[in-house]
Amino acid sequence: MIVLKSKAEIDIMRVPGKVTAKILLDLRGIIEPGITTREIDAYVEGEILRHKMIPAFKGYNGFPASTCVSVNQEVVHGIPSERKVAEGDIVSIDVGCIYKGYFSDAARTYPAGKIPDVAQRLITATEASFFEGLKFCKVGYRLSDISAAIQARAEADGFSVVRDFVGHGIGSAMHEEPQIANYGAPGRGPRLAAGMVFAIEPMINQGSYDIRVLKDDWTAVTIDGQLSAHYENTVAITDGEPEILTL
Ligand code: MG
Repeated sequence: MIVLKSKAEIDIMRVPGKVTAKILLDLRGIIEPGITTREIDAYVEGEILRHKMIPAFKGYNGFPASTCVSVNQEVVHGIPSERKVAEGDIVSIDVGCIYKGYFSDAARTYPAGKIPDVAQRLITATEASFFEGLKFCKVGYRLSDISAAIQARAEADGFSVVRDFVGHGIGSAMHEEPQIANYGAPGRGPRLAAGMVFAIEPMINQGSYDIRVLKDDWTAVTIDGQLSAHYENTVAITDGEPEILTL
C-alpha cells in the first residue's frame, strides 16, 4: 500500500529535506583530494546532529555510519573508512535525516579535483536522468512512466541503468512502497496521486549495469570495475508540479 501524506506531513518532511540539501551543497566544497571518506562522514553526521536531527542511515540494518560514501566503481552503500579521496575520483554521497519521525533521503556524485571527461559526462547524465523522470512525477502518469524516462535518458547518453537497486516511497519509514525501478516499460504500475512521496534515485554505470556486493556485505561495485554515479532526491507528488524536498 502506498501511504499518502497530508499537507501537514509534507510540511514536516520539508524540514529534514532542507537540511539534507544544505549538507549536500556544502559537501561540494569539502570533497577534495586528500580527505578521507571517514572525514566526510564525520562532517555530515556533525551537521545532522547540529540541526537536532537523527542520521537516518546510522544503524539502519546495521550500517555503521551516517553517510554512504561510494568512490569510483562503488555504486552505493560504501562504508566510510581511512581511504583518502584521490585527484580524479568521483565520490557518491547518500545521506538522510529523521525529523519528528519523518525521513529525508538524497544523493549526489562529486568530482575530486580534475576528473576525466567520461566521469563528468556520467555525473551529468545521471543528474539529467533524474530530471527526466521528474517530468513524469505528476498526477495522470503511472509509476513506470518515471522508470522508463530515466532509462531512456541514461541510455541515450551511452550509459547503463543499475537493476539491483531501486528508488522507493518514503515518509515515516525510509523505505516504503512502492519500489521505483530506474528502468522498464512505461504505462505500468499505480497511477500517481497527490500526497505520494518518493525517493527517486538513478544509479547509472559507465559500462555494464551488473553489480556485485563486496565481502563487507554492504559496498556494491560495478562488475566490470568501471565508474558509477548516483543522484537522488525526495520528491512530493502534488496537484501541480512535483516538489523536490531535498534541493
Ligand atoms: Mg534512497
